[in-house]
Amino acid sequence: MRYPELPESLLRLEEGLLDTWREEDLFRKTLEATAHGKPFVFYEGPPTANGKPGLHHIISRTLKDLVCRHQTMKGRSVTRIAGWDTHGLPVEIEAERKLGISGKPGIEELGIERFNEVCRESVFTYKEDWEKLSERIGYWLDYSRPYVTYHTEYIESVWWILKELAGRGLLYRGFKSVPYCPRCGTALSSHEVAQGYKDIEDASLFFLCPLLEESGELDVEGRAFLAWTTTPWTAPSNTGLAIHPDLRYVEAAASGRRVILAEALAEKVLGDGVEILRRYSADELAGRRYLRPPDLVPAPEEAGNSWSVVLEDFVSAEEGTGIVHMAPAFGSDDYTAGQRHQLAMLRPVDDRGRFLEDIPVVGGLFVKDADSLLIEELRKRGNLHSSATTVHSYPHCWRCESPLIYMARDSWFAATTTLKEEMLRENRKIRWLPPEVGEKRFGEWLENNVDWALSRDRYWGTPLPAWVCEEEEGHVVWVGGLEELGELAGGLPDGFDPHRPFIDGITIPCPSCDGTMRRTPGVVDVWFDSGAMPFAQWHYPFENSEEFEKHFPADFICQAIDQTRGWFYSLLAISTMLGRGTPFRAAMVNGHILDEAGQKMSKSRGNAVDP
Ligand SMILES: [Zn+2]
Ligand SMILES: [Zn+2]
Repeated sequence: MRYPELPESLLRLEEGLLDTWREEDLFRKTLEATAHGKPFVFYEGPPTANGKPGLHHIISRTLKDLVCRHQTMKGRSVTRIAGWDTHGLPVEIEAERKLGISGKPGIEELGIERFNEVCRESVFTYKEDWEKLSERIGYWLDYSRPYVTYHTEYIESVWWILKELAGRGLLYRGFKSVPYCPRCGTALSSHEVAQGYKDIEDASLFFLCPLLEESGELDVEGRAFLAWTTTPWTAPSNTGLAIHPDLRYVEAAASGRRVILAEALAEKVLGDGVEILRRYSADELAGRRYLRPPDLVPAPEEAGNSWSVVLEDFVSAEEGTGIVHMAPAFGSDDYTAGQRHQLAMLRPVDDRGRFLEDIPVVGGLFVKDADSLLIEELRKRGNLHSSATTVHSYPHCWRCESPLIYMARDSWFAATTTLKEEMLRENRKIRWLPPEVGEKRFGEWLENNVDWALSRDRYWGTPLPAWVCEEEEGHVVWVGGLEELGELAGGLPDGFDPHRPFIDGITIPCPSCDGTMRRTPGVVDVWFDSGAMPFAQWHYPFENSEEFEKHFPADFICQAIDQTRGWFYSLLAISTMLGRGTPFRAAMVNGHILDEAGQKMSKSRGNAVDP
């Protein structure tokens, strides 16, 4: 008896099988054969095709195919529509690189029209590589009618969604402290921030804020508050100190002076056996005024309660001194506290993250490069207690890796926090694999929800369809489609491209007064694009309403774990805001592939391996 013949190599076996599938057009045949089967709805998370696929893309594609193939074999009609994510920073940064420019001044000089042309040309650079990879690993996906986020129809659906949300009172414009990338020149959303934490060494600064008498004279006893910060560059913008209402505070001898700090932290900061001279309740200290630490920034005319001690619950007894330095322009807790207590907002920093030229000592410097100069300045003035460096996890831009700064800016927000309970409830309906991702990682993410910062001060993206009156800022019109825009604007040119800069020239007459309305300049967070795909892949509600209803919600989606703060979130948030509940019933989540240094593989890090 003979052994059965083995193929020369397994590779040959695979290739032979793929050839057969191709010749038989097997994928198409399975779609046809199951066309009348019970639908099994699968949503493909859109990759960005301006970068090559890497080894890390294979895991989830294999899992996706396993499940979909199994359902096909059971006779279900499985939707497998391909999609491409084609807007946003990933594309813009690639275009900047190609053009040899970096940052917004270069783009503006070149012109938005040309820049966006380059973006558009680059989005499909590696489309073939993606399609080939999918075929090679046997991942069946219908590439014949993919959804493409920059297509006019797709944008129109996103506009429709935004108008719906505005109609539900879920969109608002706010001046808020938001995470900001100084290189990209734009605010980012909390889910983008969550993608880019890195451990870095930062300063840990303890500095003194001398107590003032009611008269404004220095305290005769020479007492000073001991404040703590990890962002020394914000010290010149300080306008308040926060203490916790339930903490006890002490006066202790240190650095030849009398310093005030939380009792619970006195030994940790000043050493064992520190001499306690006096005790205070938080109430006794609240409202006391102090001398500005470095007064490098001119004081505003209306200073309100600036440079006084306020009570706030966010103050921690775990780290620092129990006295938190506050710069309302550069932190979200600081911002809300500043608003509550009428502290001035000093913002001596430009859009590139540099101190304004006329600021003494640090003018023109990038903020994070100014730390040591400011520490030295405090020392000269006798206000330095101590400084050291600590390693802590700090947010970086998920696309260009620049350290982010928190900065108060004018942005558009979606009020997702008003729907937190609903999102949590919807989350409990989702079957997560493994289950703990839903309870822990995703559930906790939803628990800590903050309003979605929607607008990006950038160029290549879905333009925000909000027109604002020049006469009265409160007059805002959200436009939910191109036909509607044409009617409002008195006609659009044939084949109108809704991207910038063309859309920027369209004005509409204000319906509430005789002013002219101009579009608010931003584009939409690219994660909003991909999260809108259940609707926008069908150009819903402009056409395919029946197809849309048949394909909502998905039975199954699958992505890597980082998407709990990315696509999984934007899908759920958008559908919930639209009153549609969760857009997916089951989510399978895979881990990351790490490189030899233990870092997650990704295109933007440049450590991906070509499969
Ligand atoms: Zn950036
Ligand atoms: Zn008006």
